[in-house]
Amino acid sequence: DDNLVEVRSLKKYFDIKKDVTVKSVDDISISIRKGETFGLVGESGSGKSTLGKTLVGLQAPTAGEVIYNGQDVTQLDKETKKLVNKEMQIIFQDPHASLNPRMRVGDIIAEGIDAYKLFKGKERENRIYELLERVGLRAEHAKRFPHEFSGGQRQRIGIARALAVEPKFIVADEPISALDVSIQAQVINLLEDLKDSEDLTYLFIAHDLGMVKHISDRIGVMYLGKMMELSNSDDMFTKPLHPYTQALLSAIPKTDPRAAKRERIVLAGDPPSPTNPPSGCRFRTRCPHAMAICAEQAPPWKEVEPEHWTACHLY
Ligand code: SF4
Ligand code: MG
Repeated sequence: DDNLVEVRSLKKYFDIKKDVTVKSVDDISISIRKGETFGLVGESGSGKSTLGKTLVGLQAPTAGEVIYNGQDVTQLDKETKKLVNKEMQIIFQDPHASLNPRMRVGDIIAEGIDAYKLFKGKERENRIYELLERVGLRAEHAKRFPHEFSGGQRQRIGIARALAVEPKFIVADEPISALDVSIQAQVINLLEDLKDSEDLTYLFIAHDLGMVKHISDRIGVMYLGKMMELSNSDDMFTKPLHPYTQALLSAIPKTDPRAAKRERIVLAGDPPSPTNPPSGCRFRTRCPHAMAICAEQAPPWKEVEPEHWTACHLY
């Protein structure tokens, strides 16, 4: 079995007030293969961060299974679950908000080391220095506080914290979205480099397809809590099946003049409120191809071509 993480019929609902439920993740089944980078794309409110947090155990699913290395994590006893969760770490979008401003960088990086009692004293110190150097910072940075660092350096600290417990799977939740464009490539390069040297598997979350194109083996596209399309990266860009993916792709500026001349598809309106999604296909209020059946029935998740899945009544 080459899957590292699988979710089956995963649901994560939030009751935000009486009689109002947000179905952030609504019946999603995907597998993430050992050693791959799985790009997960969607607008804000699509549920991609919620899916990521549920995968690493930061949130309990409302229903469904999270399977890690063949074990259903939701069914494990507390101690075993803690050990499994150690192998699954997350890097957050905002490297400012996710680092405690009153803690020294060394102690931030050692949070996992301390929680799992991996090293003490001199060994702990050396491990912190090693991690700082691994992410392109210096040993003397351990004594400083987060505000003394730039955004890119703070994201490196967040990455060192995630690496400290030697994870196998990392959810990177929009790790470069808050950074200057000039810094983004450096952080991406670091993540790719670490993936090889530490044998990692990534779920890489982004809000646009362009950002994940070059780093992802496969890509999933979410909209209002549902998976719309899933395929390898090349197929997603050369033969997108779902009208939503087609619209997202048409919005990416073309840098290559030989690229297919695709008309820009402008979607009508804003995404509907996740508290009150449309019946049938959730994309139908903005879909240029919507048909009568789209309002009546949710389209099934279907493998239209080998390893290329979509949920759309056109197929
Ligand atoms: Fe458009 Fe219908 Fe397909 Fe939904 S199911 S994407 S509304 S054609
Ligand atoms: Mg998010």
